[in-house]
Amino acid sequence: MREGDAKRWALPPNRAEEGFEDKKPLYTPAEALAEANRCLYCSGAPCIQACPTGIDVPTFIRKIGTGNLKGAARTILSANLLGQSCAQVCPVEVLCAGSCVYTGWGREPIAIGRLQRYAVENTLASHPAIFQAKPPTGKRIALVGSGPASIAAAGLLALEGHTCLIYERKALPGGLNTLGIAPYKLKGQEALRELEWVLSLGRIEVRTGIEVVETATGPGQVSTTELLASHDAVFLGLGLGADARLGIPGEQGEGVQGATHLIERLKTEPGLTLEGVRRALVIGGGNTALDIAHELALLGVEVAMVYRRSEQEMGGYVHELDAARLDGVRLLENRQPVEILREDGRVVAMRLAFLAEGKPLPGAGETLPTDLVAVAIGQERATQVARAFAGVVLDERGRVKVDPLTHRTGNPKVWSGGDCVNGGKEVVNAVAEAKLAVRDIQRYLAGE
Ligand SMILES: Cc1cc2nc3c(=O)[nH]c(=O)nc-3n(C[C@H](O)[C@H](O)[C@H](O)COP(=O)(O)OP(=O)(O)OC[C@H]3O[C@@H](n4cnc5c(N)ncnc54)[C@H](O)[C@@H]3O)c2cc1C
Ligand code: SF4
Repeated sequence: MREGDAKRWALPPNRAEEGFEDKKPLYTPAEALAEANRCLYCSGAPCIQACPTGIDVPTFIRKIGTGNLKGAARTILSANLLGQSCAQVCPVEVLCAGSCVYTGWGREPIAIGRLQRYAVENTLASHPAIFQAKPPTGKRIALVGSGPASIAAAGLLALEGHTCLIYERKALPGGLNTLGIAPYKLKGQEALRELEWVLSLGRIEVRTGIEVVETATGPGQVSTTELLASHDAVFLGLGLGADARLGIPGEQGEGVQGATHLIERLKTEPGLTLEGVRRALVIGGGNTALDIAHELALLGVEVAMVYRRSEQEMGGYVHELDAARLDGVRLLENRQPVEILREDGRVVAMRLAFLAEGKPLPGAGETLPTDLVAVAIGQERATQVARAFAGVVLDERGRVKVDPLTHRTGNPKVWSGGDCVNGGKEVVNAVAEAKLAVRDIQRYLAGE
């Protein structure tokens, strides 16, 4: 493949995620116009302040209202290159729409995400060439990982005329946008379509199936020293690692799965069915726990979430819990997994201890029947490799340390952003951090 060529990725047919209904489908023109005309074009618009990428919300909405869809998309994408996926996956309830003046008045906020999707999706379908890259500079930038952080950074760097080489250890690019986001928000194929559009902006190559490691020992690996030597700058968009484990008896074997692993299977594996799974327990109280619980419920499984503290202390968003509950998810508070019980190797039940203020109540507990346990208690850090770039350091929680204003690491040629720096936030945060890094990479490459 020639450098700069966009490679086509396709997910196989007959995947579980295809059966999910789109919770916020694309507006019709009449719906978009009616919604756009509700916007008050506030001065000092709080919706702009609430967006980590600073999208000029009232301006793009006004453009939709005047029929200038291409202009609206340009306003969105010049602030946030991943405006398409962010329109669908952003927790607007706690960001832009949550700060909309209508929310303050107890009225329905402007559906900013849906309007954004309407402008971007329609424009990119008919006029994908809305940005023009600058002439080639001859500079080469390596990006490690192909999640939203690296993709946004690569797109911006490519528009500046630089050549970008993205190294991704998995077979499919896109990181969690392709493999982790709930299918009723964004399907894997939609994430790949956006990614292909970013690749079309300039000279960007994605090398999948290549892991960046400290010392390369085979063809699917490239070493950190080689990467540094052959590129003018390096961006680390490593994300987080594998699902953390419970560490209790009975955990090993079929029927117990890490939540992000299970979500990835639902999104990518052809023919995967949940036959024989009538009941499931999801362990955890964060957004990943809510997502897998909701997805399983939509697939017809009876789901209960097991959380060690109270509902008020849950890390997951209230609006996501409300939505999951509407689809049948139950929440069991103040409980801690003790043991997974199996019969002939098959998971049949889980023993739980009751907790009070986070501490086990001696002798108190219950045993709940279940066919599947999904573990969503956090992800390990896949950041160790960052240390192999001389000067790059991790903090005590395994996050890559950067200057918050420039996202430059302790190595003057290495920048980083996204989940591996912030410990796990949202797609829009990864884009915002990539923007800061690219601004500084530009200064560095210009010799400033
Ligand atoms: C289940 C789940 C649901 C989510 N839902 C939402 C949502 O609805 N809305 C939202 O805004 N956010 C959501 N998020 C968060 C969002 O997905 C992340 O914040 C975002 O993907 C972070 O982007 P990133 O590029 O930093 O990391 P990632 O998307 O994790 O990408 C990192 C990439 O780097 C690759 N990589 C790592 N190490 C190496 C190496 N050494 N060599 C080569 N490649 C490497 C990985 O394989 C991966 O593809 C969700 C997260 C999860 C887990
Ligand atoms: S706060 Fe709401 S009404 Fe005001 S400009 Fe933003 S979206 Fe429009």
